[in-house]
Amino acid sequence: MPKDAQGRTTKHIKCSCKHGYQDRECGDDIRLHNYARKGRNGEPGWRCTVCCDVKVASQADIEKAGKT
Ligand SMILES: [Zn+2]
Repeated sequence: MPKDAQGRTTKHIKCSCKHGYQDRECGDDIRLHNYARKGRNGEPGWRCTVCCDVKVASQADIEKAGKT
C-alpha cells in the first residue's frame, strides 16, 4: 500500500461525485481517497474511492514518499 510523506494511505478530500453514505459519514462532498504513487500523468496523487478521479498530491504529501 503506497504511503504519502506523512505515512498516510488515505485522505479525505472534496470530490465532485455523488455518494449519500460518504456525505453522511465524511461530510458533504468529502470522499475517502487512496494514495496513488502513480496517479494522473504518472504523478503522485489521491484516487477517489467512489469515482476513481485522481487529484494531484500536494508537495507536502509527496516529499520523501513513495520509495517503498
Ligand atoms: Zn469522487
